[in-house]
Amino acid sequence: MDPAPSIMELRRDSKAGSPEQEPPWQALPVLSEQQSGAVELVLAYAAPVLDKSQTSRLLKEVSAVHPLPAQPHLKRVRPSPDPGRPHSLEMLLCLAGPARDSRSLAELLPRPDVDTRGLGQPFLVPVPVRPPLTRSQFEEARTHWPTTFHEDRQVTRALAGCLFSAQERAAMQAHMERAVWAAQQAASRGLRAVGAVVVDPASGRVLATGHDCSSSASPLLHAAMVCIDLVARGQGCGAYNLAPHPACSFAPAVRAGSVHKLDEDEDGLPYVCTGYDLYITREPCAMCAMALVHSRVRRVFYGAPSPDGALGTRFRLHARPDLNHRFQAFRGILEAQCRRLDPDGLDTKA
Ligand SMILES: [Zn+2]
Repeated sequence: MDPAPSIMELRRDSKAGSPEQEPPWQALPVLSEQQSGAVELVLAYAAPVLDKSQTSRLLKEVSAVHPLPAQPHLKRVRPSPDPGRPHSLEMLLCLAGPARDSRSLAELLPRPDVDTRGLGQPFLVPVPVRPPLTRSQFEEARTHWPTTFHEDRQVTRALAGCLFSAQERAAMQAHMERAVWAAQQAASRGLRAVGAVVVDPASGRVLATGHDCSSSASPLLHAAMVCIDLVARGQGCGAYNLAPHPACSFAPAVRAGSVHKLDEDEDGLPYVCTGYDLYITREPCAMCAMALVHSRVRRVFYGAPSPDGALGTRFRLHARPDLNHRFQAFRGILEAQCRRLDPDGLDTKA
């Protein structure tokens, strides 16, 4: 028996089903360090093109000598940033070494590979070391040196707050309302008010609803850990005794379609949360975030950050190139309601 109200009941209560009425929250992507960080610069040598008729020949010869394989995003030629200068173009020659001293054309461009006719005295210029990943990084990068930009349209739309349709937002709100309900059940029992829901986005089916069950005897039963265990229980596994917590429930697993072969453990079974979404009222701590990496969750939606959160605040464990699973994280779903609930963390409830 499922003690939680159904999605339709929640929808009726909150009147969130009306497509005209935009819910007052925004789902914002939690980007990787590389996506959200400032543009990193490295010094390079450039030179003015004094004879424009030599540009294409110089471009070919300089690129052959210094191909810049790690910086394919850098354009080789830019208009002179100072219109008052006699030359109208500048050419990127090569990256500067650690010495960063002034060099002559002869030192930078060996003869006979490059005929330096038409180039002026080299100068040092900071250039973006990596391709820009977001539009704001691109805007910053191009103030230093022109770069190409292969825009990740999903990230751009997500940053503009228009990644999800009104229908998707209504479903997201309903799932988070269920997580808030679970958190309130925990609070009414004197437990830490953190709630979570696992959903199969392919069917919209809620597979697990859980709240923080930690106590001095079992201090690690955070809401996300409880939910992962409940999903495992739906698959015939599970380890925790959650019988004393009636608000924690699960639905038996029905795996529709095929799960990708690579995403299986050594027994040939898919990892416990492969393809699933987690909704959680507050940002998961490092333990929960790593458990979500291990369980191969697809996306995590959380309402408000936690001071020790590991999906944006202290760490971004969902977007690390050195871990073998990455997932998308979004914050801000029903943020105002979730902010009034407890944060997730490893300390005991005060
Ligand atoms: Zn936790």
